[in-house]
Amino acid sequence: MKIAVPRMGNLPLIIRDLANRFGLEYIETPSFSERTVEIGAALAPEFACFPLKAVLGSFVQVLEAGADTLVMGGGHGPCRFGSYGEVQKRILEREGYSFKMLILDSPSTSLKDFHEGLRSILPRQHVRLPVLLRELLRVLSKVVVFDEVEKWALALRGLEAEPGAVDSALEDSREIIGRAFSSKEIKEARREAQSRFDGVPLDRERAHLKVGLVGEIFIVLEPYFNFDIESWLGRRGAVVERSVSISDTVYPGGRNPVFGYNDRIVAKAAAPYLSHEVGGDGLLTVGATTIYARRGFDAVVHLLPFTCMPEVIAKGVLARMSSELDIPVLSLSIDEQTGRAGVQTRLEALLDLAWSRRRKGRTAGTAAVGEEGGWKVEDKTFKAAQ
Ligand code: SF4
Repeated sequence: MKIAVPRMGNLPLIIRDLANRFGLEYIETPSFSERTVEIGAALAPEFACFPLKAVLGSFVQVLEAGADTLVMGGGHGPCRFGSYGEVQKRILEREGYSFKMLILDSPSTSLKDFHEGLRSILPRQHVRLPVLLRELLRVLSKVVVFDEVEKWALALRGLEAEPGAVDSALEDSREIIGRAFSSKEIKEARREAQSRFDGVPLDRERAHLKVGLVGEIFIVLEPYFNFDIESWLGRRGAVVERSVSISDTVYPGGRNPVFGYNDRIVAKAAAPYLSHEVGGDGLLTVGATTIYARRGFDAVVHLLPFTCMPEVIAKGVLARMSSELDIPVLSLSIDEQTGRAGVQTRLEALLDLAWSRRRKGRTAGTAAVGEEGGWKVEDKTFKAAQ
């Protein structure tokens, strides 16, 4: 079996680790490119969400590179995501590809279904539940550490005294964490990564903006599609915090270990504006925006794929939140037609607005954090990095 998994943020690092642990033959999905998008857009229904098209294009590329088993996330609820694995399978079969498609639910949705799915691709010696659980727990702790170092990089890039120092600490850390295998080695790797970040020269007195990044996970995490927004903002003096990371979505129990606010807190924060699940990351987008506003962030950037239903609902709510919570929010809808120049021009305008509000002494966070509606949060922007 030659397995391939869709690309998204640091997911390839995690899948590589899983494949090593379980002795699976894994073919890495090629990096996204114009060609990937062209293929996906040509095959997918016009009004399918953009991530479906992008992943479909990359599935074609990886099947042509020799993969014979595709693993796709499953799900249920109001969002279309749950049906995408099946839709992609049928399109690819119609195009004449022969392969096996495995649709895996997140372990945070159902550990049992996740286990059943894994059993069908794992070599027999790894299928015994105790071995499987031990290795999966190690992978999970590694996923959290991969995401933590990204969070540190986001918090520090806007303050680095030497351009590129944060990026090289991030690269080193990824390599160090990637090599760790046992639980002890993963803990040591985290410590070593932390010392790399401690060694980054910072200009803590530099005036900077605090920007929250929210939205649909694929667009938020995939730099090819968001035009590497995290680095772009960091290089312009923004300290960035984002609401989604891979570990938060797979962590059983909805604790969101990296974002730091569990599902209950997020739902309470969102409740004045959106009081129920709308699928995807819609509720998280609204809840996280409230949290950022109450913590005194200067602006929020909302990234959504064109035709994403949960984020379109969130976008409608964000317009009201922006005026009630007094925080600038920029929603950027991304699809195959979106150009870098247009996105960056709008981001520049957002930063100009945020700086001018700062000069006038006007930032968000007019209500005290922790005093509203019984939910309690605290400023963790730098906590992880210090
Ligand atoms: S979250 Fe949005 S983009 Fe993702 S599958 Fe659902 S509707 Fe589509």
